[in-house]
Amino acid sequence: MKRSGINTLCVHAAHSPEAGSGALAEPIVLSTTFERDADGGYPRGYRYSREGTPNRAALESCLAALEGGIGAAAFGSGLAANMAVLDLLGAGERLVAPLEGYYGSLKQFAEVTRQRGAVLKLVDFREPSAVAAAVSEGARLVWVETPTNPLLNVMDLGQIAALGHQAGAVVVCDNTFATPVCQRPCSFGVDLVVHSATKYLGGHSDVLGGAVVVREDAALLERLHAWQRLAGSPLAAFDCWLLRRSIATLALRVRAQCRGALEVAGFLATHPAVAQVFYPGLASHAAHALAAAQMPGGFGAVLSVCIVGDAARALEVAARTRLFTRATSLGGVESLIEHRASIEGPGSRTPQNLLRLSVGIEEPEDLVEDLRQALA
Ligand SMILES: *Cc1c(COP(=O)(O)O)cnc(C)c1O
Repeated sequence: MKRSGINTLCVHAAHSPEAGSGALAEPIVLSTTFERDADGGYPRGYRYSREGTPNRAALESCLAALEGGIGAAAFGSGLAANMAVLDLLGAGERLVAPLEGYYGSLKQFAEVTRQRGAVLKLVDFREPSAVAAAVSEGARLVWVETPTNPLLNVMDLGQIAALGHQAGAVVVCDNTFATPVCQRPCSFGVDLVVHSATKYLGGHSDVLGGAVVVREDAALLERLHAWQRLAGSPLAAFDCWLLRRSIATLALRVRAQCRGALEVAGFLATHPAVAQVFYPGLASHAAHALAAAQMPGGFGAVLSVCIVGDAARALEVAARTRLFTRATSLGGVESLIEHRASIEGPGSRTPQNLLRLSVGIEEPEDLVEDLRQALA
């Protein structure tokens, strides 16, 4: 059967009226324990909530359907999802990761490889020869993020997956920025897709969560579920319910946000107070053609700008916005603006005059007006 469209999946994947009551909204099952049969069995599949709950199963099946994988495992945060994947790294094994990426993940990679006696190789994934060199002595994990945080560089998923597989690596893509609405890494051969569900999947800045989707390796999926039980840190039933509820409107939100981001980026690109705009949807972006091919559903709704001037001038612009709220994070219905270098702290490679914008679902012309007055 033909794969359903994204909005159809967002509404219907792993969701149907409850058999018992006919309730359309999924019930939240808070029970920590589940009844056994007279013979001691668990014919309904649930025993104890650390091991699994109906709400978690529904969320995981839904995410697998959206990404085109065989299954998923949900965790208490994006970094907890990363941690489950990093558990694959043995002593002496290599993690090949990008020079530029979410700073929380990069810090986590450095710390985890140090603790495990594994090897961290940071490379510029825009350079195929650099990736080939990094994996030439083999690799356990190749971890890619695209578009990247905060410079919105775009990496060639098909090429990186092929190089990773030649080296025998499991290839991982952080799809938080793009979401399965814009980009489906499994279709380029990526083995594992990780998400900070805190961002677009949640979409309302009110739930912390993470997930790993597995493309086709059932043993890998079982290992991730084993890690959920071992670490004892699955996502709670209410948070799973919130996420599954939010995903019903994921494609509507993300498409509107992408449209808004393109308008905002187009406006900023012509403004004399702006030195540079980083957004893959602009024809001037270095990897615009690659982005157009790899992100058929849209270019995402995060963009960065370098303001003409220094850090103080960038902070001044952020201080003057009225609709864009000064806060970290992204992916919610409300637009945010952030001076990125100061949240990343010492050692940040981010330019001091850079502001990162997460475009929400407000009317794009209102957002443009807000930025016009803030930049004046
Ligand atoms: C926020 C984020 C994470 C970390 O997720 P948390 O839910 O905050 O733990 C990982 N990757 C990317 C790209 C992110 O934006």
